[in-house]
Amino acid sequence: MITERSKHLFEEAKKFIPGGVNSPVRAFKAVGGDPLFIQRAEGAYVFDEDGNRFIELINSWGPMILGHAHPIIENAVRGAIHDSLSFGAPTEKEVQMAGLITGMVPSVEKVRMVNSGTEATMSAIRVARGFTARNKIIKFDGCYHGHGDSFLIAAGSGAMTMGTPDSPGVTPGTAADTLIAAFNDLESVSRLVAENPEQVAAIIVEPVAGNMGCVLPAEGFLEGLRTICDEAGIVLIFDEVMTGFRLAPGGAQERLDVLPDMTTLGKIIGGGMPVGAYGGKKEIMDFVSPQGPVYQAGTLSGNPIAMAAGLAILQYLRNHNEVYSKIEETTATIVSGYREILKEIGKDYTINSIGSMVSLFFSEAPVTDMNSAKKCDTALFGRYFRGMLEKGVYLAPSQFESLFISTAINQAETDHILSATREVLKSIH
Ligand code: PMP
Repeated sequence: MITERSKHLFEEAKKFIPGGVNSPVRAFKAVGGDPLFIQRAEGAYVFDEDGNRFIELINSWGPMILGHAHPIIENAVRGAIHDSLSFGAPTEKEVQMAGLITGMVPSVEKVRMVNSGTEATMSAIRVARGFTARNKIIKFDGCYHGHGDSFLIAAGSGAMTMGTPDSPGVTPGTAADTLIAAFNDLESVSRLVAENPEQVAAIIVEPVAGNMGCVLPAEGFLEGLRTICDEAGIVLIFDEVMTGFRLAPGGAQERLDVLPDMTTLGKIIGGGMPVGAYGGKKEIMDFVSPQGPVYQAGTLSGNPIAMAAGLAILQYLRNHNEVYSKIEETTATIVSGYREILKEIGKDYTINSIGSMVSLFFSEAPVTDMNSAKKCDTALFGRYFRGMLEKGVYLAPSQFESLFISTAINQAETDHILSATREVLKSIH
């Protein structure tokens, strides 16, 4: 595969952009090799600057659920740009958007638009803190909620009490207000709540984790969080930036039938435009300025182009339930193909999957939380990733990511993904 132009652009980029990229995982550090510079994408395929074509399994990390450059979204954006790109004033489209989100996501009664998932989660915990007049939050080791200071905290080994900053620049003061629990371990949550009486404002969780690879909640885990929050007056926040409108029209909360108090959304509700949102119960959301005392704002929030794209995709998803059956059938075919291949090579690697999310973990032990995810052979994943790229399949460049299947992936692409997987796995074992 010739990647000369990508290599040249990466060298140029490194002169002017830290690490040559505008978001770290794009640099392929976890898998080795240089990143590809993308020129365009269409349907199930993405094309790099050297003209190589790849089957797309990243899909902008989730939002391209209908594949790339889908005409309904393209037309909506084209239609909107003539009316100017931004006003910083209220528009009808924002009202329609809020109506769609509150109509589709079961627990959301009021919603505020922002510009990214990071903004959504940062704002949600501020509101939860304002609402409860408490300072601490509980997050789970391995769950990612964007790069807000409060979320860049990892569990120190065995230290499940106080967070330590995961990045220079996060102050110890901020870190001390983030408590780290283990995903799927209700006991670790109850302990933190008991040790910090009347101090925990919110528990934030990816209801299905996508950021340690795809990790499903164990039976009773989300229900248990709901009970703990109800008993201790804590705001339960589901971060559905990845799962929202993907696992069901109403997200993981609809699919798994557990309702949070607040929900954060991103990516998909802009159809690929930079968008996020947070919402929840009326009494909580009414704490947001200018209705309430908790300040949160944004010049570009509710941007008309982003709203046009978002309305187009959400309306489509609401009216076309077959989207979900299609992507889930494709995913099921991929999962059963993986199982067959693993049998052929005599490996019992773990496959976690729900709906249209799937991760193949290079570990024979179950992956149920960050500790078990860390046991994966990441070097082997790197070889698998590079082998797949050579064969024209663009996976997420990390073991700790989920694949996101789009409706543009048909039988031909599925067959190619599986035959490439078979060849690559045989060649690296
Ligand atoms: N929450 C979750 C669950 C995410 O997966 C992400 C990003 N992948 C974010 C929040 C942050 O979103 P953004 O990158 O748009 O800031």
